[in-house]
Amino acid sequence: MSPHCRSAPVSARTYHTIAARVARHFHYVRRMRFPRGSDRADVAIIGGGIVGLSLAWYLRKLGVERVTLVERGEPGQQSTGAASGGIRRQFGTRVEIEMTLAGWRFYEEVLSHSSYTDAFDQAGYAFLAGPRQIDALGRAWMLQQEIGLPVRWLGPAELAEMFPYCELHGLVGGTFCGEDGFIDPPAVVQWLLRQCRAQGVHILEQTPVDAVTIAGRRIRTIRSGRTIVAADAVVNAAGAWAGCVGTLAGVNIPVEPSPRVKYVTDSGRHFSANSPLIIDLPTGTYVRLRQGGAILGVKPKKRVVSFNVETNQRIFARMARRVCERFPGLHGAKLRGLIKGLYELTPDGLPLGGPVAGVTGLYVIAGFNGHGIMHGPGVARALAELIVMGKSEALDLGPLRPDRFERHIATKHYNFL
Ligand SMILES: Cc1cc2nc3c(=O)[nH]c(=O)nc-3n(C[C@H](O)[C@H](O)[C@H](O)COP(=O)(O)OP(=O)(O)OC[C@H]3O[C@@H](n4cnc5c(N)ncnc54)[C@H](O)[C@@H]3O)c2cc1C
Repeated sequence: MSPHCRSAPVSARTYHTIAARVARHFHYVRRMRFPRGSDRADVAIIGGGIVGLSLAWYLRKLGVERVTLVERGEPGQQSTGAASGGIRRQFGTRVEIEMTLAGWRFYEEVLSHSSYTDAFDQAGYAFLAGPRQIDALGRAWMLQQEIGLPVRWLGPAELAEMFPYCELHGLVGGTFCGEDGFIDPPAVVQWLLRQCRAQGVHILEQTPVDAVTIAGRRIRTIRSGRTIVAADAVVNAAGAWAGCVGTLAGVNIPVEPSPRVKYVTDSGRHFSANSPLIIDLPTGTYVRLRQGGAILGVKPKKRVVSFNVETNQRIFARMARRVCERFPGLHGAKLRGLIKGLYELTPDGLPLGGPVAGVTGLYVIAGFNGHGIMHGPGVARALAELIVMGKSEALDLGPLRPDRFERHIATKHYNFL
């Protein structure tokens, strides 16, 4: 005990009087300032998607005792619930590839855990390029080779051999990585929820954060109605809503929502192939053929910023026309279902991961631009290390620093999809 903590001996009566006063005081404080359901945390996380949950898991692994995760609805039901679960190494920049590799270390751990029963579907990813995309794809492939990734270059002959069901008109090359594939996001979310609960993470569901308190340029509390969580550190992991949560804290978080729809069809007239996920760069469409059906999607030609994910038959018909130019076997395929959700766009195509300038104790991890399943957990690990140890080992968070736009040090990236 330090000398300042020593106190003079007190009589039993005085002691009980003081104790009663202290108890009354704390009862008063609890009642007035910390209503029922309120909490004190070392780290509070806003958002229970793959990013918030994997961050909570890593924080507990690093020994943070009181981790509270606050979720507006049910965990994993927003972008994470809509995702295909694709994990690919094929990107055009080193930082994106490193995020996949860091994320893959998380999935290796999950997949090898005795309590995780789902499997990794190693279906592969292929990119198809026309004359206008081939240089960028070639540069990406050179970088992938330099890093030592198992990505093959495909000339016209290989394309014809690998994808006999494709109309190859207008294609001059492609790439393929057979180690890319798919996890099942709902299975990973359920596993993380079980793990986090077992390790004492306090998860508050149906709790939309509607206020953030800052005093003396330091984060103090987050609130949801009458529920208050006081925390030393608060992490905004609210996905496409990260900008809205930033507004509650009076800071600019440049993440914008962008609607995306995946269409699930039957197999059309003559289709019976399983395929990797094929990204057709000239038409901006992607397709994954499964026995008995296909999953289709399209990259919008313009940047659409909206929370509205509604779509209609006309949009599907237009996209189906584009897809059928490349996959004629899908002509006549019937729409069987829709999966709608939000991408979370940033101005340069990279996520934000790190402290928010100007508010001590406030962090953000969001804006994964449609790659949060593969990239989120690796960045979450690096951020957990930064919060706990003051430096991140899993990944260099430098390129992801949230203030890179104000500091004019961000660079535009070439996003394949
Ligand atoms: C159709 C589609 C397909 C995709 N396919 C892939 C893929 O194959 N591979 C891949 O890597 N990525 C894919 N993505 C992208 C991926 O889904 C996202 O990047 C990822 O899920 C983002 O995770 P997150 O935790 O940041 O966001 P979310 O999962 O959206 O989680 C954020 C959470 O924050 C909560 N929240 C928001 N505001 C508040 C508040 N005020 N208070 C409390 N909680 C709040 C929300 O309710 C939500 O649950 C796809 C996305 C879509 C839409």
